Amino acid sequence: MKRMTGAEIRQSFLDFFVSKGHLVVPSASLVPVGDPTLLLTNAGMNQFKNIFLGLEEPRARRVTDAQKCMRVSGHLNDLEEVGISPYHHTFFEMMGNWSFGDYYKREVIAWAWELLTGVWGMDKSLLWATVFEDDQGTLPWDEEAMTHWLSETDIPRDHLLRSGRKDNLWSMGPTGPCGPCSEIHLDRGPEHCNKQGVAGHVCRVNGDCTRYLEFWNLVFIQYDRDAQGELHPLPARHVDTGLGLDRVTAISQGVPTDYDTDLFIPLLHRIQELLGHSDEEAARNRTAYRIIADHSRSVTFLIGDGVIPGNEGRNYVLRMILRRAARFGRKVGFTEPFLGEVAKVVIDLMGGHYTDLRRRRDFILNVIRQEEERFQRTLGVGLALIDEIMAGLQERGETVVPGAEAFRLYDTFGFPLDLTKDVAAERGFTVDEAGFKAALEEQRARGRAMQQFVSTGGKELEGYVRLLDALKAQGGLGPDGVEYLSREAAELETVVLSILHDGQPVAQAGEGDQVEVVLAATPFYVESGGQMADAGTIAHYNQGEEEPRWEIQVSDMRQPVPGLVVHVGKVTIGHPQVGDAVWALVDAERRMDIARNHTATHLLHSELRYILGEHVQQAGSLVAPDRLRFDFTHGVMLTQEELDAVEQSVNDAILASYPLEVAHTSYKEAVAGGAMALFGEKYGDQVRVIRIGDPGAPFSQELCGGTHVYQTGEIGLFRIISEGSVGAGVRRIEAVTGRTAFQLVQKRLNVLDAAATHLGCPPEEVERAVLRLMGEVHDQQKENAELRRGMARLEFEALLLVVQEVAGVKVLAGQVDVADVETLREMTDWGRNRLGSVVTVLGAVIDGKPNLVAAVTPDLVERGLKAGTLIQHVARVIGGGGGGRPTLAQAGGKDASKLGEALALVPGLVEQQVTKSTNG
Ligand SMILES: [Zn+2]
Ligand SMILES: [Zn+2]
Repeated sequence: MKRMTGAEIRQSFLDFFVSKGHLVVPSASLVPVGDPTLLLTNAGMNQFKNIFLGLEEPRARRVTDAQKCMRVSGHLNDLEEVGISPYHHTFFEMMGNWSFGDYYKREVIAWAWELLTGVWGMDKSLLWATVFEDDQGTLPWDEEAMTHWLSETDIPRDHLLRSGRKDNLWSMGPTGPCGPCSEIHLDRGPEHCNKQGVAGHVCRVNGDCTRYLEFWNLVFIQYDRDAQGELHPLPARHVDTGLGLDRVTAISQGVPTDYDTDLFIPLLHRIQELLGHSDEEAARNRTAYRIIADHSRSVTFLIGDGVIPGNEGRNYVLRMILRRAARFGRKVGFTEPFLGEVAKVVIDLMGGHYTDLRRRRDFILNVIRQEEERFQRTLGVGLALIDEIMAGLQERGETVVPGAEAFRLYDTFGFPLDLTKDVAAERGFTVDEAGFKAALEEQRARGRAMQQFVSTGGKELEGYVRLLDALKAQGGLGPDGVEYLSREAAELETVVLSILHDGQPVAQAGEGDQVEVVLAATPFYVESGGQMADAGTIAHYNQGEEEPRWEIQVSDMRQPVPGLVVHVGKVTIGHPQVGDAVWALVDAERRMDIARNHTATHLLHSELRYILGEHVQQAGSLVAPDRLRFDFTHGVMLTQEELDAVEQSVNDAILASYPLEVAHTSYKEAVAGGAMALFGEKYGDQVRVIRIGDPGAPFSQELCGGTHVYQTGEIGLFRIISEGSVGAGVRRIEAVTGRTAFQLVQKRLNVLDAAATHLGCPPEEVERAVLRLMGEVHDQQKENAELRRGMARLEFEALLLVVQEVAGVKVLAGQVDVADVETLREMTDWGRNRLGSVVTVLGAVIDGKPNLVAAVTPDLVERGLKAGTLIQHVARVIGGGGGGRPTLAQAGGKDASKLGEALALVPGLVEQQVTKSTNG
């Protein structure tokens, strides 16, 4: 085969199929859109599933692409192969061409042959192909494909083989589209057999050795499998092919493994360069190098598609892979975060085709760095703990790491389970996975129980289940449970079905009781999607009376089990009774505040994506009456300019007073129409879409079940109050709207006005006036300091008059009035300068506390005088202590009144020390 780079092969494949009338479509995201059953995109056909199912019209009948794929699914078994098997990767590229009810077997077989042997120049004598023959004998064999292989190609006749269901019947799932396939294999020669010398081994296609390499699968979709497993012919027949880019590149470059191709070599070289390894050292650590290279690709592409490290789903997959790479890096000698450096090479290498990588480069590198740093902080401790655990096991002759220990590693040190399994496996240990899951479940249950306890006074969920069943059985509730009308109404007339007091059903409650109330229908919103629950009142009136007979203030709402909506509150008037007719009345002002914040959250989300880029994804949200909080994926702090721009755009959208449109549609249609669905949210078939803007081309479309304003103008004013980080690659913005924003502005302006009055200037000049005042204060402080220095000088001069001489040593001791210890120390310098040889001990009361500084000139230190010893004795008198060098020491104390007494000791102490030293 012709020698080409990986990029050339990719381009050549796409160009070839364009020449056959195909439309090139971009790779779908690694995060599958509209398919909650799939964790990560793992095949080229994922994005076309609905076309095969007949749910969606294709953009073109002939399509080709290069698709980013990942196969990990959190199982170590797949991961273990990476780096060891030359063809196993977590991330790989699948080249494909599709016919949606257009061409069929004849064309695709002819084109495959033309591309492989004509364009790419593969040796025909080394190619083999298989066609389907049912080993269960119920489906007809694929004579059609065989006929075309014979008529359209000059493949050697004996290189056409028939193969059964395992290799040659492809299906999308247990039910749905499926069909026979034709696989193309390359004979790499007997030297590639890994079973050479095994008795009785024969190399063959689909055999058990590594000589024959399958690299292109042509799938012919012609059946629909029903729930009973029966296959029915499809009205439209399709083609779906998949060719692994890494494999073909290895073939083209005549190298033994994918890692020897130009798709990997730059990564491996960079790793070696960063480590400063010799070629021999690199070769010795080959597996670790390959794992790091493979994982760097996955990490880079996953983050590029908006996934950030976490503990659930695909976020967990990313965290696990990243940490696994970091750990292998540590094993081969990295001590600092390094993955970002390797990721840069991935971006350089692949960013030409996958241009998103270049656009999101900073974001990708930031997320990697933060997660790697976070892991590094705990890695050492965690690994030491694993060592300890295993040493203990070894002593007891055990080989299974207890689930509780694996959980501790996970919970405390952020070790993903797979990583622990990985480390354990390296040393011949296994992990009790069931035990781990039980511990995890237990922790979650504890969390739930705690919440339950807090909100229900310790009552179990079962009580609610029984209550719901009982209400349904009595006919109080229909099969769907409480009628939930929060989006349609803010008040309604209904009936009390149940009252719980202390978790127990009661027929009647008393004034002051904390109760939970179930009504047949409710207008109260239950917290969901980040929007807080409504508050309000439930009241019962006698006909013709203005005042309620009884009233409950509702402070919170809960839905402990689906279908059961519970109002939590306190009886403020009278005695509520089961069976009473009531008015349920939502606090309308509060709900309006919440609605303003909710709609503003949608505007903020859309403006952030517009201003910062499409990598911005909602990562969390709180919609409260007094503020909104929005967490989103973005690697770096927002600049003041960006914050201003976001705030401005949101306010522009408010001033334009766009109408909100609420649509109910299918999930598929909503997402196809561009509506944003949130990661990790589950949606039913029917979804509610909130559209804002021109109905023909809304600038904001979100799947959302919350309550909103009717027109953006109702929001009034939007003001960001803070921006910060809440984790790797996630930022948080808090903002206020409507009444709260107004109050904020009013308060701030009042403060400004008051300040202006005090300053005697107009509000616009407050800043200048304050700056001028600060300048004046600064000047005065400087002047004061100079004055104090002058005074200190005078005090010092006065002290000089009372210098004593003790045993031939000049002693300068006394109390002065200075502002800080710094000046005290400076005064001892003056003493030395003026007197040459001197012991100086000065005291001052600073901020009400006595302070002492002692200095001894070096010539006197030689005579046995030590500043440290002196000050210790002196400081004792003022109830303090201190110390320092022989030439300079300092002390503080408690009793300022004793300072004079303390200083008076100095001459005597000097005399003692000098005499002692002379005698000694
Ligand atoms: Zn073999
Ligand atoms: Zn929403």
